Amino acid sequence: MAEPSSEPQQSSEPLPSTRAADGPKKRAKAAFESWGRYPRLQTELRTLSWISDFPPAHRRDGPMLPVGAGRSYGDVCLLEDGTLLQTRGMDRFLHFDPATGLLRCEAGVTLAEILDFAVPLGFFLPVTPGTKFVTVGGAIANDIHGKNHHIAGTFGSHVLRFELVRSDGSRILCSGRENREWFQMTIGGLGLTGLISWAEVRLRPIVSRGIQYRGDKFVGFAEFLELSRAAAEVEYTVAWIDCVSTGKNFARGIFMQGAHAGIETTAAHPLRRSPNGGEPSVALPVDLPGFLLNKATIGLFNTAYYNKQRHKTVHSVVDYEPFFYPLDKIGHWNRMYGKAGLLQFQCVLPWDTDQHGITQIMKAITQSGMASFLAVLKVFGDVPSPGVMSFPRPGLTLALDFPVRAEVSFDLLDRLAAITFEHGGRMYPAKDARMSGEHFRAFFPQWEQFGAYVDPAFDSGFWQRVTGRG
Ligand SMILES: Cc1cc2nc3c(=O)[nH]c(=O)nc-3n(C[C@H](O)[C@H](O)[C@H](O)COP(=O)(O)OP(=O)(O)OC[C@H]3O[C@@H](n4cnc5c(N)ncnc54)[C@H](O)[C@@H]3O)c2cc1C
Repeated sequence: MAEPSSEPQQSSEPLPSTRAADGPKKRAKAAFESWGRYPRLQTELRTLSWISDFPPAHRRDGPMLPVGAGRSYGDVCLLEDGTLLQTRGMDRFLHFDPATGLLRCEAGVTLAEILDFAVPLGFFLPVTPGTKFVTVGGAIANDIHGKNHHIAGTFGSHVLRFELVRSDGSRILCSGRENREWFQMTIGGLGLTGLISWAEVRLRPIVSRGIQYRGDKFVGFAEFLELSRAAAEVEYTVAWIDCVSTGKNFARGIFMQGAHAGIETTAAHPLRRSPNGGEPSVALPVDLPGFLLNKATIGLFNTAYYNKQRHKTVHSVVDYEPFFYPLDKIGHWNRMYGKAGLLQFQCVLPWDTDQHGITQIMKAITQSGMASFLAVLKVFGDVPSPGVMSFPRPGLTLALDFPVRAEVSFDLLDRLAAITFEHGGRMYPAKDARMSGEHFRAFFPQWEQFGAYVDPAFDSGFWQRVTGRG
């Protein structure tokens, strides 16, 4: 049996002793890993099961940062020489109203746990990322987006209220009406404004586990955009794109669209829990050698994946698990990238008539000799988010991943960041371990206004890096 992959990633390295033989008490340090496993920062971990476990001022030493399941790729959920407040123990459901779909739960509850509870009752998440193993607190703090961004906006658009706990012990009830500025700064606030203890989220009704699926093969951005335009009213859209092929196959991919299926599919896709709570049935037990993922092997995979769909267009009704969470089937799949870990890159570029920026990004990847295994392209819509620091904005978003490979991958990411900057786009902090302070300030000019709301006792590896203290 695989280990539950909804647990935060922690290094299996032994913890140093907390106490020297005769000397003064030392703090236990551990490597809490983000999903990219890069960078690795050593810090103290404190598990919170109740909000009363929040450390009072006289028991604190150094900065703090609340963390959820560690499913961010870079260092927004990491901190060197401080205390990570691990919230997975705060996992209680507090209230649910089936008349309105309004759920109140603690911030450490995962989206997987919400689905396990809500799907049998005929409710689904309003917005979900490509993994269900993230916490409600993490979903708010990164203001995550899903395949329905063009229709539903971000996760934060469906949060009605939450409680924010500050390091001075104060508790702020935040909503669109009460303490509105704290609400807006905390949605997408990267865990820096305080700890979210509980939140209210509005779920959406469903009548079946089924998703009406349509897959279209495309070649080139023009065809992708045509499909996106035609599917503008479809609830979920996303494309897989082949970043290795060149020439006549440049920018080929599969455009996927889906919508919650109707009552006619309920008998075949009844509203019930996923087997084993949707936990992975297999897991990668060890790190694979990093060299296995290279341009040649990824090229082979891409050709096989593209050709697996034999017809130009296919239609089917599929279960929501493989539609939303294909990667969740394999526990610890990040070990595929080897011990050194992986770097993610996600940008959004504003609309541009010839998609010059995205083409330049794709060409920079090919020229670097690197390849991305999981490349995803999507249109973001214009539904506004309440979050001041929220990442999505109207345009085209591209997400890529690369194994950490000495300077080659760093140079490539710096090049991709520069292209994003030149084209007036921005990068996603939840998937970043490289963004420079200069780029961050240009991508998020509201950062100074936000800085005034950062809790003086809170900090993160990301924040230290982009504010020039890392
Ligand atoms: C396979 C995969 C697919 C993904 N797909 C998407 C996608 O489609 N769209 C998308 O937007 N993201 C996606 N992500 C990224 C992921 O959704 C976000 O990084 C999410 O925020 C992770 O949540 P977490 O609970 O693991 O939080 P962590 O990674 O532990 O922390 C994330 C941030 O939240 C803060 N935080 C956590 N809990 C609290 C709390 N209680 N109070 C205050 N702050 C808190 C932390 O300080 C940190 O800044 C994906 C990640 C993976 C691994």
